[in-house]
Amino acid sequence: MLTVGVLGLQGAVREHIQSIEACDAESKIIKRAEELETVDGLIIPGGESTTMRRLMDTYQFIEPIKAFAAQGKPIFGTCAGLIMLAKQIEDREEAHLGLLNVSVARNSFGRQVDSFETDIAVKGLDTPFTGVFIRAPHIISADDSVEVMAEYNGRIVMAKENNIIGCSFHPELTSDHRLTQLFVEMVKAYKTKLAV
Ligand code: GLN
Repeated sequence: MLTVGVLGLQGAVREHIQSIEACDAESKIIKRAEELETVDGLIIPGGESTTMRRLMDTYQFIEPIKAFAAQGKPIFGTCAGLIMLAKQIEDREEAHLGLLNVSVARNSFGRQVDSFETDIAVKGLDTPFTGVFIRAPHIISADDSVEVMAEYNGRIVMAKENNIIGCSFHPELTSDHRLTQLFVEMVKAYKTKLAV
């Protein structure tokens, strides 16, 4: 059985846990860095990236999450989680984890439309996925090593690079678990490779 952890410092944690369970995988809320050793993949949820960073520093998560990624273990960042993963953040000197070779802008869909839902065509899915955007970031640019998975209005809203994947919206806030499933498959592939 594989176990997917959800970083439980702040944000939309419980919804991700429910989505992982709907995909028949074990789930675990991760509140301390040592607990990373007990999971095969990690979801970094949406929330507020500046607050999340502060808590990551307090609970000393930055280096352990980088080491987790360096082992090839998959990480999925949603919304603020995508910001945590990005190599570059507009109007900010330093990145947080810097694990995904993209540059992001925060709160990029305008004040009037703080939150909205829209159908998104995602690579690998037969039918569109309803993206729930809440003060969402978008990807301004991506390195060649990054696979663009979805765009909305000409903006990149989902991208994958090896074991790291991120999206601007909140896939856990709908009852459609296909993106969580896609991540669970990445975790499965990682585990299978280990077993060979
Ligand atoms: N606007 C938030 C940030 O910049 C992200 C919002 C979200 O995760 N829903 O961190």
